[in-house]
Amino acid sequence: MEKFLYTRQIEKDPKLNVWFMYPAIESFAMASLGFLSIYKMMDLDNELYVERIYSDTKTTELTTDCVDCAGFSFSFEIDILTIIKMLKKYEIPLKSSQRDENHPLIFAGGPVLMANPLPFEEFFDFISIGEKVSTKKALDELKKCSDLSRDEKLKRLSEIEGIYVPKYKKEKIKIIRDNLNDEIIYTPILSSKSYFQDSFVIEIERGCPKMCKFCIASWINCPTRFVPYEKIEKAIDFGLQYTDKLALMGAYVAGHPDFDKIINHISKYCKTRPIELSISSLRADLADENLIKMLVECNQKTATIALEAGSQRLRDYIKKDLSEQQILNTLKTAQLNGLKGMKIYTMIGLPTECDEDIEELVNIVSKMKAQVKKLKTPFELTISTSTFIPKAQTPFENVKRTDKKTLEKRLNYLKKSLHKLGVTFRPSSVEWDVIQAILSRYDNSLADLLIEVVEKGGNLGAFKQTWREYYKKGVLPSFDEVSQIPFDNSKEPKWHFIDTGIKL
Ligand code: SF4
Repeated sequence: MEKFLYTRQIEKDPKLNVWFMYPAIESFAMASLGFLSIYKMMDLDNELYVERIYSDTKTTELTTDCVDCAGFSFSFEIDILTIIKMLKKYEIPLKSSQRDENHPLIFAGGPVLMANPLPFEEFFDFISIGEKVSTKKALDELKKCSDLSRDEKLKRLSEIEGIYVPKYKKEKIKIIRDNLNDEIIYTPILSSKSYFQDSFVIEIERGCPKMCKFCIASWINCPTRFVPYEKIEKAIDFGLQYTDKLALMGAYVAGHPDFDKIINHISKYCKTRPIELSISSLRADLADENLIKMLVECNQKTATIALEAGSQRLRDYIKKDLSEQQILNTLKTAQLNGLKGMKIYTMIGLPTECDEDIEELVNIVSKMKAQVKKLKTPFELTISTSTFIPKAQTPFENVKRTDKKTLEKRLNYLKKSLHKLGVTFRPSSVEWDVIQAILSRYDNSLADLLIEVVEKGGNLGAFKQTWREYYKKGVLPSFDEVSQIPFDNSKEPKWHFIDTGIKL
C-alpha cells in the first residue's frame, strides 16, 4: 500500500520518459528520503513521465526502448555492483561508450559521486555532482533538446554547472547545493512496504559543523544548513495527520538551533496519542535528559552514539570533540530515564592508532559496563566496530589504511576483551571495508574488473578472485596492499576536479 502525500499530476504531457532506479530492493528504496524526494520532483513535472525501478522490480510499465533516460540514486560505493546488475537485467550496454541512439541516457547522483566519481564514471553518460537542484537542471535541459542526437545532448549537459559528462571532461566542477530555506524535504509517499513502514521522515538539517577529519557527511555537505523551525513545525503537523511514526533526519539533528522547540512541539502530540519518534544520529554531548525522555515516551528502546576512538588522544586527533565524561554521562542519563540499551559505534585503524588506543577502548567500555551494573536496571551495551575507510574530499583522503594483519589482530583482541566484559560486539568485515576503501579513492581504471566481479556473482569471493587475476596480469597491485598505498601528498588527488567549496 502506498499513500501519496502530494497531489500527483495524472494527465501528463511528457517530453521525456524516465526510469528512476534504486540499486536495492523496494523496501530500502521506499525508506530512502533522498530517492523519494527526487522521484517526487520528477513526478510533479508535467513534462516528465517517471517510473520507479528497484532491484527486485518484476515488471515495468515502460519498456527499455521507450525510456529516454534512466537515473540511479547512488549512496554507497558498493551500490555499483547492483547498478551493473540492473543495467544487465534491462539489456542496457554497461558502458557509456557502448551506447548509441537506441539506448537511454544513463545518469546517477548521490554523495559517493560528489566525493569521487572516477571509479564509476564509465558506466554513466552524465553524473549529477550536487544535490537535487543539479538533477533538475539536467532534466530541464533534456526536455528542451529531445530532438538532438545523443552526443549533442551530452555536450549541452556538460555546459551545465554541477553536471559532469565523463566524455567531456571539465577542469573544475562545483557541487551545486539545495537551498533548505526554500524547501523542506520530507517523505512524499508512505509505504507499507518500506523498511521503516509508514514512517514520515523530515530532514531538519544537512551537514555537520563539527568537521571530524574522517567524516564525509560533514565535508561534502558544507556549509551546514538548518531548516527554519516554522517549516519543521508545519511538516510535523502535516505528517502526523497520516501516521504515528516520525523520524528526524540529519547528521547533526540535535544540534539544530531550535531543537528544544522541535521536541516540545512533538511532545504536545504525545500527550494525546502514541507517537513513535526516531532520530537518525545522536551526539553524546547533545543527548540531554529532555531528549532521552522524549525518545522513551515515543517508544524508542535503544539509541546509538558514536564514540569513534577509545582514547582521548585519538578522539582529539580526529577532532571528535567528545570527552569520556560526556559519554559516561549520556549513558547514565539514557539508563536512568528508561532506555533499554545503547549501541556505541567505534572505528579501528584510524591514522596514528596504536595498541594503547585499543587498550583505552577496552578501558572505557569497562567503565561503561561498571556504571551500567551499578544502576541495576536492565541495559544492554553493544559495541559496533568498523575499520577506518579513508574517504576522498576529507582531510584523511591521502592516508594509508592500516594493514589487514594488524586490523585483524586488534579486532580479535577487542572480541576477546569485550566478551569477557559481557558486552555484545559487532565487528564489520575487514575485507568489505577494503573494497569500500578502494572504490572511494580509485581512478577510472576499474570498470572491467567491476563487470567481471558481477559476472562471477558479485560477492566478496568474486571480488577477490577477479582482483587476483588482474594482479597476476600485472594490471593492478595486490588486493591486500592496494588500500595501503600511501597517496602522494605532493600531488593534487585525482578527484580534486570536484570543487566542494571548502579547503581541506
Ligand atoms: S559529529 Fe558526527 S556527523 Fe558531525 S562531523 Fe563528526 S562524525 Fe560527522
